[in-house]
Amino acid sequence: MDFTLTEEQIMIRDAARDFAKTELLPGVIERDEKQQFPAEQIKKMGELGFLGMMTDPAYGGGGMDTVSYVLAMEEISKVDASASVVMSVNNSLVCWGLETYGTEEQKQKYLIPLATGEIIGAFCLSEPEAGSDATSQKTTAIDKGDHYLVNGTKNWITNGGTASVYLVICQTDIDKGHKGINALIIEKGTEGFEVGLKENKLGIRGSDTHSLMFNDVKVPKENRIGEDGFGFKFAMKTLAGGRIGIAAQALGIASGAYELALQYSQERKAFGKEISKHQAIAFKLADMATEIETARLLCLKAAWDKDEKKNYDLSGAMAKLYAADMAMRNTVEAVQIHGGYGFVKEYHVERLMRDAKITQIYEGTSEIQKIVISRSILK
Ligand SMILES: Cc1cc2nc3c(=O)[nH]c(=O)nc-3n(C[C@H](O)[C@H](O)[C@H](O)COP(=O)(O)OP(=O)(O)OC[C@H]3O[C@@H](n4cnc5c(N)ncnc54)[C@H](O)[C@@H]3O)c2cc1C
Repeated sequence: MDFTLTEEQIMIRDAARDFAKTELLPGVIERDEKQQFPAEQIKKMGELGFLGMMTDPAYGGGGMDTVSYVLAMEEISKVDASASVVMSVNNSLVCWGLETYGTEEQKQKYLIPLATGEIIGAFCLSEPEAGSDATSQKTTAIDKGDHYLVNGTKNWITNGGTASVYLVICQTDIDKGHKGINALIIEKGTEGFEVGLKENKLGIRGSDTHSLMFNDVKVPKENRIGEDGFGFKFAMKTLAGGRIGIAAQALGIASGAYELALQYSQERKAFGKEISKHQAIAFKLADMATEIETARLLCLKAAWDKDEKKNYDLSGAMAKLYAADMAMRNTVEAVQIHGGYGFVKEYHVERLMRDAKITQIYEGTSEIQKIVISRSILK
């Protein structure tokens, strides 16, 4: 077993680390406070190839492996999880979904601008009454011969206001249950498609989360992804890979908070010595470092499974479950190590703690990951 990263992987990780420090760190507190989407920064990430990392270069991507993607996600998430969620949705849900299941025409028209970062995409599965229970889709796509007529509402859509292309999961044939679901590509600006108000969130406040309304939206048949009825499978397959990205995001949030706590503990003095010299604090740091390394290994294992074309449903769900719960625990500890300073915005750890929470919720809650894991081990 070889744990050594390749030169290329190290280069990508270091480039992401540099970008996070020089481009994302300045203004991250203000963007969080004002709920400001990091538009300029996302544009630069596109130019540097961070938005289509794993896409084939023939379609404008970087042709990199999933391990490199995990390494870059960790570095970006250490500093700005509002930027890394855009990266994650665009890479692992939108670009991967289109590249793996789209037609050549769809790839030429949509994948190339998405992978180059010229535009960004959104993945629209959740609805007001269909979150964890994704089979209860109420958004309908009625077959009208050469097009579908789409009606319904999607909720909590990341990049909801800023995306140009939306992959929308809809129910076409209710009698067929989840086999009657389709995934459609819908462009912003299509008549009848409206973006709702931006959500005012606990964390990842710079990210752009909206509800979407579809009112008699005509979508050409050539915008369906895969065969008729493939939509639910498309969503599940895509989310299985997406989880690796969110696991890496959780890992990054935790390791960002840990690095800040480690540094702070060696500067702050109490009772005549650095707080890191008090065993209670040193042991907290030891636990954090151990849990972070465990999450990193799980993330890299899931990424490696994907790169080796092995099944990654189980390893991806384990990585997400562990990394998300670990991020929540360890960002709380990072705030604790900072004492009162951890409770104010300037020290970053309170933001990381708020950002960690979402990783236990989206792309399948921690409870849903346990369902995926238990089904897999019991089958
Ligand atoms: C900031 C943000 C961004 C998001 N981005 C997107 C996006 O881009 N695209 C998209 O499609 N969705 C997105 N989501 C939606 C997200 O995926 C859902 O919120 C999530 O899947 C949970 O669904 P729900 O909110 O309806 O909760 P529910 O499904 O109602 O769950 C509520 C609680 O019940 C638990 N629960 C539900 N069913 C079970 C069960 N069978 N066993 C045990 N426990 C259960 C859940 O784990 C949870 O704790 C986003 C959400 C947020 C908050």
